[in-house]
Amino acid sequence: MELYSEKINRLIEEFSRLPGIGRKSAQRLAFHVLNMPQEQAEGLAYAITDARRSVCYCKECFNLTDRELCPICASDSRNKRIIMVVENPRDLAAYEKTGKYTGVYHVLHGAISPMLGIGPNEIRLKELLLRLQQDVDEVIIATNSSLEGEATAMYISKLVKPAGIKVSRIASGIPVGGDLENIDEVTLLKALDGRTPL
Ligand code: ZN
Repeated sequence: MELYSEKINRLIEEFSRLPGIGRKSAQRLAFHVLNMPQEQAEGLAYAITDARRSVCYCKECFNLTDRELCPICASDSRNKRIIMVVENPRDLAAYEKTGKYTGVYHVLHGAISPMLGIGPNEIRLKELLLRLQQDVDEVIIATNSSLEGEATAMYISKLVKPAGIKVSRIASGIPVGGDLENIDEVTLLKALDGRTPL
């Protein structure tokens, strides 16, 4: 016999599909939502569907946004001649949280991985090259220090260098295999300051 009725089970199942959420946590979340005031639960559901519906990629840097341009690309105070290349919006958020980086970003949405069959065409590389036809002084490659991140960094540097644009790679301090999003701000800033030319 099922422990819960169908609708409760469905809710638990939906929560358990989220990353890092096991069966137990999913149950906890489901019961938390069921105990919320009706209005609050509807607010949560609306926030999810509304964000999902209206969020798209920034046409310049491919960060997630609900406008044509993300707030960073739209800002006059950001230096558009320095582009930091990251694997995903979470890494961008990690650098943005430091509050010290004043350039702009380019979000690849992945990294080259022959093992997983992800080639250069599967990530936003063509779009990066298009951006480099404008006035760009430096490309800072801030892909993860995983095998895929390193391979992607090498690939990009080979593409960008012939265009006469300075290419650098964020420095050590970031553990090998480490995801940027899990790294503290001080380490991220040190890595940025100590970036090396490629
Ligand atoms: Zn943008």
